This record gives sequence, structure tokens and C-alpha cells, in this order.
Amino acid sequence: MRGNVLVVNCGSSSVKFAIIRPECGTVMAQGVAERLLSQNSNLKFFGDGATKQTVPLGKEANHHSAILAIVELVKQAQLDETIIAVGHRVVHGGEAFAESVLIDEEVLEAIAAHQHLAPLHNPVNLQGISAAKTAFPALPHIAVFDTAFHQSMPETAYLYALPYELYSDHGVRRYGFHGSSHRYVTGEAANMLGKAPQDSNFISAHLGNGCSLCAVVAGKSVDTSMGFTPLEGLTMGTRSGDLDPSLTPFLEDHLGYTGKQVNTLYNKDSGLLGLSGLSNDCRTLERAAADGNTRAQLALDIFCYRLAKYIASYMIAASPLDALILTGGIGENSVYMRAKLLLLLQPLGYQLDPDANENLGSGAAGHIHQENSPPVLVIPTNEEWVIAADAARIATTQSH
Ligand code: ADP
Repeated sequence: MRGNVLVVNCGSSSVKFAIIRPECGTVMAQGVAERLLSQNSNLKFFGDGATKQTVPLGKEANHHSAILAIVELVKQAQLDETIIAVGHRVVHGGEAFAESVLIDEEVLEAIAAHQHLAPLHNPVNLQGISAAKTAFPALPHIAVFDTAFHQSMPETAYLYALPYELYSDHGVRRYGFHGSSHRYVTGEAANMLGKAPQDSNFISAHLGNGCSLCAVVAGKSVDTSMGFTPLEGLTMGTRSGDLDPSLTPFLEDHLGYTGKQVNTLYNKDSGLLGLSGLSNDCRTLERAAADGNTRAQLALDIFCYRLAKYIASYMIAASPLDALILTGGIGENSVYMRAKLLLLLQPLGYQLDPDANENLGSGAAGHIHQENSPPVLVIPTNEEWVIAADAARIATTQSH
């Protein structure tokens, strides 16, 4: 069965979509509906070549109406007939899903049953599925979960040192996210090294606005830095990463924060943004630091120090290591942050090749280590392609 896959990625206030050839990852069209549920939501559509359109969506636009508008543009571009399956990114599959699945009633119920674990995402993911099913009722719809890749983690990695009943009775454990990205880049890394995934071990660092590390042994995730929610682990754009949990009652009892305000503080006002007081954007901070802004410099320093410490600790999980992989907006693009990280990793034998680091073009895959150093690969991630490939495979083998 040849054709394209419509990939739908519903965020809390946006819907990203792409029409992808699953066998090669070529993007036929893509776009994003942004600022949903606000006064000025709009839909940006990029067709093949130079076609570009921006359509206002009106103040009532939600995820459902955004998807119907997307489908309208897909029809105008005469791409609807080419679509053989719809792949949906779903954030939380809990312990119910260790891989992507064809969506049926039971799967919808399971996604709904995990809403409390991802209250900003699973409900809008369900809206997206419902709207896309309305538009394409005859096509197979496939769910690809952010959490699924990490279901192979052992108990030693996923349990918190809390009373066991909190896990067994209430599902309190580490789940991990960014699964499609870690799966993709570690698969690509094995290809680059000419090794079978089952014979290779990697540490993958996804460094975007959200950041996570994953230890992958023989093609399977054995540890990851995000936890019960995406808050845990590395310093991120606006998330604090690891903290002392006793900070929460201190903020509530002594500084008058409500639970909701604490949550916003940790998730939206912290990380690079909170430390710098300037921006969550690494580019802005790099420019400011170069101009002498000490808070911007401190934010970048803390980001790299925490990252290097985490990487060092993951050597325990993924040894002997075939390569450290850097991906996500920062990993793929920031010459400065990559150099800074490798300097911190020098005690582990890492040596940066400055020319390779500087000359690696944006969007290119390559290595940035010297010959005598453990390997460091930069690999652009491609979560949409993972979703498209899974959807096409499952549509071919399981539907009808
Ligand atoms: P998201 O998690 O939202 O998908 P991305 O993976 O696009 O985010 O990563 C966004 C981050 O990547 C931002 O901090 C941005 O500043 C950073 N970034 C993108 N391009 C560059 C660049 N050329 N140099 C430094 N940082 C960059």
C-alpha cells in the first residue's frame, strides 16, 4: 500500500500537521494552527515548493475546528486522495502501550483513562483523533505515544523511592517522554556507525525547549530523565528540571504560593527563562552572554553543567557506550553549547573537534569529536517521520 500519511500533533494550544511519504520521510505539505482558543488563532500551511498560506481561524477555533480547517486546505492542495493513514502523536499511554497501535474504541478509552497523567495533552489528543476520524472515517488512525519507547525501562529506573503502593495503586512512577525522538536518533546513530541497533548502546540528549536524556541499550530505552511528568531531569527552556521536593511546601507555607502557582513556576517560569530573567531561547541567551549579560551566561552554564552530570551518570546505564547523540533545536544547532558541553565532559575522555563542530550545517548529521575521543554524533530528530512510518506499517498489517 503506497501513499502518504497525515501526521497530527495536537499541543495544548496548537495543532501541527504534516503529510509525509512514510518510506523516505519526504514532507509533501505541513503547517501549524497556532494560538487556538484565543482571539487571533491562525493556520499556516506550507505546500510543496513555494505555496504558503495563512488563514485566520476566528476566536472560537479549538483543536476540532483547526483540524477541519487543515483538512480543507489538504483537499484544496489535492493531497487528500493520497493519504492512506492518519498518525496521531499521543503524549501519555501510561503502562498500557509499549508500542504504536491502531485506534479503536478500547484504545480511545485507554487514552481517556490516562488524562489525569497528561491533562494538557491527552484531552486535546482525543479531540484531534475525533476530528480527524470525522474527516477521514474510512482511513486507519494510529496512535504513537511519547511514553511507549520507555516502557522497556527496568523497575530500578522507573520506580521512585516512595512507598511501593503509590506505584501499584496509583501509577506513581517515571514514564519518560520524547520517546519517538530518542527512538529515531538512536536508530539513525546505529546506521551511521554501521551497527545493528540490537548490538549498540547510546545516550541520546534531546535538547529543545523540553530536554531529556535517554540511555538506550540494544535498541531499548533503559533509563530516561523525564519522569512522572516532563518536569523531571535536565534544566529546560522554562522547566526547572530536578528540584528538592521540599521546596513545594516551603513555597506554599512561607511564600503563599497555591499548588497551581507552584506548578506554573516550575513548568513555565523556571529553567533558562527563570535563571536569566530574559528568555527561554538559547540563541537570545548566547547573544546576551556574548554582550556581557551575566545572568544569561549563568543560565547557559547551569544548563550545560546539569546536562554533563546527567550524561556522566547515564554511563552506568549504557556502558559500553557506542556514542553520545545530541539532537533537538539546541543539540542540532548550537555550536556554542555543544563545545561547552564537551569541555565539561573532558574528564571522561571527550575531545571536541572545533572545526567539525563549527562546520556542521544546520539540519546536517555528523560527528563533532576528535579521533581519540569517545564518539559524539549530532543527528537532527524527525518525530513526524517516526509517526508516519509506524502509521503506514500498522495500517498495512492490521487494518481491514
Ligand atoms: P521544541 O522543543 O519546541 O520542539 P526545538 O527543538 O525547536 O524546540 O528547540 C528550541 C531551542 O533550540 C531553543 O532554545 C532555540 O533557541 C534553540 N536553537 C535553535 N536554533 C539554534 C541555533 N542556531 N543556535 C542556538 N540555539 C538554537
